Amino acid sequence: MTSPDFETHKIICPECGTVNSVMSNAIMVTTPIDCSKCRLPLGMWGEARTKYGTLPAALPEGA
Ligand SMILES: [Zn+2]
Repeated sequence: MTSPDFETHKIICPECGTVNSVMSNAIMVTTPIDCSKCRLPLGMWGEARTKYGTLPAALPEGA
């Protein structure tokens, strides 16, 4: 049994292209995150995962 809330999300930094791996069960949606490389603020996790995130199981459509 798996929950999407326990996935490792990949957050792609729009500034430097670094893929930041985020364990979604370790943080809250209100946790601010930033790029591990260039420190660009990516917003709260709840926002960042929809704006910059990709799920391993979900391929982007129409990209
Ligand atoms: Zn960056």
